[in-house]
Amino acid sequence: MTPLINPATEEVLRTVDLLEVDAVDDAVARAAIAQKRWAAAAPSERAGALRSFAAAVDSHIGELAALEVANSGHVIGNAEWEAGHVRDVLTYYSASPERLLGQQIPVAGGIDVTFNEPLGVVAVIAPWNFPMTIAAWGFVPALAAGNAVLVKPAEITPLTTMRLGELALEAGLPEGLFQVLPGKGSVVGERFITHPDVRKIVFTGSTEVGMRVMAGAAAQVKRVTLELGGKSANIVFDDCDLEKAAATAPYGVFDNAGQDCCARSRILVQRNVYDRFMELFEPAVKGVVVGDPAARETEMGPLVSKPHWETVSSYVPDGAPIAFQGSAPSGPGYWFAPTVLTPARTDRSVTEEIFGPVVTVLPFEDEADAIELANDTPYGLSGSIWTENLSRAMRVSHAVESGNLSVNSHSSVRYNTPFGGFKQSGLGRELGPDAPLHFTETKNVFFAIGEK
Ligand code: NAD
Repeated sequence: MTPLINPATEEVLRTVDLLEVDAVDDAVARAAIAQKRWAAAAPSERAGALRSFAAAVDSHIGELAALEVANSGHVIGNAEWEAGHVRDVLTYYSASPERLLGQQIPVAGGIDVTFNEPLGVVAVIAPWNFPMTIAAWGFVPALAAGNAVLVKPAEITPLTTMRLGELALEAGLPEGLFQVLPGKGSVVGERFITHPDVRKIVFTGSTEVGMRVMAGAAAQVKRVTLELGGKSANIVFDDCDLEKAAATAPYGVFDNAGQDCCARSRILVQRNVYDRFMELFEPAVKGVVVGDPAARETEMGPLVSKPHWETVSSYVPDGAPIAFQGSAPSGPGYWFAPTVLTPARTDRSVTEEIFGPVVTVLPFEDEADAIELANDTPYGLSGSIWTENLSRAMRVSHAVESGNLSVNSHSSVRYNTPFGGFKQSGLGRELGPDAPLHFTETKNVFFAIGEK
């Protein structure tokens, strides 16, 4: 049993039972039976079931969003977007069961075709920062490709994922096909890795745990998709719309209180516009509305937990090079004011993922220096490039080692475009048109045509 705490009030919301290994083994057995029936069902039937699930999510957006506000401290506008995004992901991939086409390949002596066979039982291990959306990026395309799915939400934020499990049943998905198993990483997550009937793990979380998941999966040559940490750069060139770059920069890093793997947490500014950028950036940071996540005008809520608040605080010790800070409520709640640091290039606030509302700003000299700085990290998830020069935008987009870049904006995630990381930010891609294929094995079958 674990108590869940509202991070904006520090009040206990409710308790949740944590499952043990036996319960995981029972769930895998039920999932294996359900998967065989699901894969055998007509593609149109599977498509229809996913559309019904999407409709059920759509009619519970308010309830799901309110749960996320209370459990995770997400601001209400974001939480509603997240629930709507789950619906959209379901709708998008409801087209897949009828479109997993395979190939017919010209060969001598017969006909050669490929089948996209489901893997079987797939497990999704989710983090606490975007509980619903990140779980959906794994479980929806996996279901669409004919698999059964087990999801383990993070210990501290299971409520919306558990509700999605109930909605799936209410929408008519077969018993056992999609199960949400709250529990500890060291118990439920580890059992997913060691259980021989779990054929793939989709893991989103820290690079440290991701490495352990990958090492454990190697023992069974188990498939993995890994979505890990980030330390993304927001590169501001002197030829950009500086007003717009400065006005939007806070939202590129402080959204979800900086608890975003795509947070542009290193702002790199060309030296000849650095002072002007900082002049424009200061009021933008101070203007971020931090407070009650249930209030419509709020732009940033609290950090998710007390231990996480302590971790983030450690990056802003006494004497830290604070350029300026926004404001945050006092009193109960894990509040942290948006904070801008101007440290040395080697400081740990520049090199480590903070996962909170703390951003560093560094000057750079020229394009080559900007690229070198942007790539001077083991991570490669996201990033932004601000320039009005199209050739420069193209050159820098190619040179930055990162899976998701945006030019003159801070956009990272759309359900219809691929998402994932270079280097230690991950392995494989989620979302986009190909995601269901990542939950299949390609089987090649040759049919010999005999002589008459
Ligand atoms: P975490 O690694 O601590 O936990 C993630 C999940 O793994 C949780 O469900 C946890 O219970 C489980 N887990 C822990 N130990 C395990 C083990 N030994 N075996 C199996 N599972 C285990 O990460 P977190 O603190 O919940 O999330 C924050 C991290 O996630 C950040 O580093 C962030 O960058 C990353 N993240 C990445 C993406 C992405 O798409 N690349 C998205 C969101 C978050």
